[in-house]
Amino acid sequence: MSSSSARIRTRAFIRQSGRCYYCRCLMWNDIIGLTAMAKNFALPLRQVRYLQCTAEHLNPRMNGGSNSHRNIVAACRTCNARRHRAKAPRDPISHQRHVQNRMRRKKWHPAWVYESAICAVQGNCF
Ligand SMILES: [Zn+2]
Repeated sequence: MSSSSARIRTRAFIRQSGRCYYCRCLMWNDIIGLTAMAKNFALPLRQVRYLQCTAEHLNPRMNGGSNSHRNIVAACRTCNARRHRAKAPRDPISHQRHVQNRMRRKKWHPAWVYESAICAVQGNCF
């Protein structure tokens, strides 16, 4: 990934207060590193690794989506991958609704996510 894409991803991360665009969980990246996050939440690295911040193209690159900051949000690896892995990928708003619905029922991430303060379900983000 070019440094300009990395910058756009970092800006999205800051704009979203470090939370995933879809599931609202806290993520790690080059600002809040994996080790620091694991330490802050007293979780093993192998679990926290799972919540890596990625650049999510709202309009996918394969459909001509650009690398502009308007087309990029910060999403955790899971939410990003699951949207694009679907046979008929949902549009971003439908995916957000789908993920938040599953989050409320605690059926999106592994159980440890819901038990930690990483998850906004315990708070009032939803
Ligand atoms: Zn997510």
